Amino acid sequence: ESRDPHQPEYMQAVREVMESLWPFVKKNPKYAKFSLLQRLVEPERLIQFRVSWVDDQGVVRMNRAFRVQHNSAIGPYKGGMRFHPSVNLSILKFLAFEQTLKNSLTTLPMGGGKGGSDFDPKGKSDMEVMRFCQALISELYRHLGPDTDVPAGDMGVGAREVGFMAGMMKKLSNSNDSVFTGKGLSFGGSLIRPEATGYGTVYFAQEMLARQGKGFDGMRVSVSGSGNVAQYAVEKAIAFGAKVVTVSDSTGTVVDEAGLNKAKLAALMHLKNVERGSLKSFATRFKLKFEAGKRPWYVPVDIALPCATQNELDLKDAKLLIKNGVQCVAEGANMPATLDAAHALIAAGVLYAPGKASNAGGVAVSGLEMSQNALRLSWDREEVDRRLHGIMCSIHENCVRYGRGSNKQINYLDGANIAGFVKVADAMLEQGVY
Ligand code: NDP
Repeated sequence: ESRDPHQPEYMQAVREVMESLWPFVKKNPKYAKFSLLQRLVEPERLIQFRVSWVDDQGVVRMNRAFRVQHNSAIGPYKGGMRFHPSVNLSILKFLAFEQTLKNSLTTLPMGGGKGGSDFDPKGKSDMEVMRFCQALISELYRHLGPDTDVPAGDMGVGAREVGFMAGMMKKLSNSNDSVFTGKGLSFGGSLIRPEATGYGTVYFAQEMLARQGKGFDGMRVSVSGSGNVAQYAVEKAIAFGAKVVTVSDSTGTVVDEAGLNKAKLAALMHLKNVERGSLKSFATRFKLKFEAGKRPWYVPVDIALPCATQNELDLKDAKLLIKNGVQCVAEGANMPATLDAAHALIAAGVLYAPGKASNAGGVAVSGLEMSQNALRLSWDREEVDRRLHGIMCSIHENCVRYGRGSNKQINYLDGANIAGFVKVADAMLEQGVY
């Protein structure tokens, strides 16, 4: 710990995992050998670089970018790129560490990585975003490859940004190897990839509820965020018969007591994906309540799906959700609940799914995109959705296997951390000290 005291998000992620692993490692001492845990928390390689680009006014701009190549024990580094002003090494190391365990859970052969930049795509023209993406890849390309490191999207990086980066990658490498996932359908993208994280989160929650003889039908659901993950979590929850009463963004929360429907969701998608505006105009258009600066957790619900960003649900929020009778909290975002919030939910008997399990559907379909590219063919929607659903069910089973405590309640946090760890740890041990 003393090596990174100035990296709070990374410390938080490591502490959460180690709390789960420690009792398990004590019972299975082979995992305490060869400094395995120390090696697991040290990224194999970090790349930090300058990105210089020219804006529409002809002014030279400078951003900082990173790629964290965390662990390649079970496959090439794999994980998204995030463009957001808050991006720093602590946040990317936490995301890369989580990604290593998450990718292991998917059952597919992918190692863990993450990258990004403090570039803010908000308010930038398409041409500025393109020049930035090209400048970034003109450095990063030498560290990427289909069997080395395969990036994708994350916050602030959608189909537009992936397209610009993949295009530059192709030009510089003189190769059509598909080095990004989340690509457009016209050049190797997979059907269902945009939907995968949101759908997968709902599939996972459905499995947890089903063990208790429950489902989404008729449930009140709150969703935070209104980006890629949130949009498709809302879509699938509605399709399963739930009433989705909130969405949010960085400016505040919209409350819709009647429940979002298909038409409102289509308008929300247009606002966020095309106009790139904020939620207030959405609330005004549909005459809905808009709470500036608020998070959705004060609204009474049966199921909460945090799909915006890290540390967006703290202990106070968790207590409020519990008081209002929440039964299930499944994370679409990465580490949205603080550690004490997660502990409070588990202690109250709430079904709590950590992001590395419940949001793994996105990277799972990225893995399927890689398989389709390697086979040089593409599967139809039903085929990809069927595989996604199957993977979410197997992640759930694996969490149940490793998360069975002394009482009947399943601790999905422990289950996900241990199940993800075992495969990476075995692969590291079998490959010797490196
Ligand atoms: P997007 O950029 O598409 O959307 C992010 C959403 O979160 C936006 O609505 C944004 O608001 C909101 N937001 C950002 N910061 C805050 C904040 N401080 N408070 C409240 N709301 C905020 O990103 P994604 O949907 O792709 O990602 C969301 C989360 O899911 C992230 O944690 C990401 O790491 C995780 N994830 C994403 C996967 C994917 O496939 N995309 C896969 C697995 C995990 P605004 O519109 O105002 O910017």
